[in-house]
Amino acid sequence: MQDELKNARHRARMARKKSIIDAAIAAATDERGLLIVITGNGKGKSTSAFGTVARALGHGMKVGVCQFIKSRTDTGEEAFLGRQSGVDWHVLGDGFTWDTQNREQDIATAQRGWEVARVMLADPSYHLVVLDELTYLLSYGYLDGDSVLDALAHRPPMQHVIVTGRGASDALIELADTVSVIADEKHAYRAGVKAQPGIDL
Ligand code: ATP
Ligand code: MG
Repeated sequence: MQDELKNARHRARMARKKSIIDAAIAAATDERGLLIVITGNGKGKSTSAFGTVARALGHGMKVGVCQFIKSRTDTGEEAFLGRQSGVDWHVLGDGFTWDTQNREQDIATAQRGWEVARVMLADPSYHLVVLDELTYLLSYGYLDGDSVLDALAHRPPMQHVIVTGRGASDALIELADTVSVIADEKHAYRAGVKAQPGIDL
């Protein structure tokens, strides 16, 4: 008896929930390219973007990836995703700014990299463009923020873009459709664990 009552209550609750969810789904009718920003100090920004690359490739979409900052070409994501047909993968960094210690060189590298990204943002054949670690080029002032925002705002209407990196600017967040801020609760690095292949690279 007790169970029957519980089951009936559960059914009624789920029916109410279903009608709310169905109404929300029916109200979401727009279809357009989205600008997604994954920021914050926690781990999971780039891996989230690369998970979406896998998802898009599964749908047969064409994907462009620009990795700013990083100079290493031995990451698992590049080894696997970079060789899939349908992906154009560009490693455009020169290493971290504290590695190069050369501001002029960093600016030149950033601007060369941005040219590659700009071409993708003007090409409707790319269904998804990932701009990994783009935020740093903006916060260091290596790129002009307004021209970056302008290129993002005027990209092909059905093109999705994911921008990753810490410290996304207010203007970028304002322009974005979806923003996730990943919090840094804990990271194994601080317990002395070095970067692990398959997890960190
Ligand atoms: P991931 O590529 O693992 O998703 P991320 O893109 O969120 O990380 P980045 O700032 O790009 O973070 O850092 C890249 C590298 O630094 C990765 O090896 C990642 O594990 C490590 N890392 C990320 N967040 C932290 C953190 N809060 N403390 C220490 N190391 C971190
Ligand atoms: Mg990253």
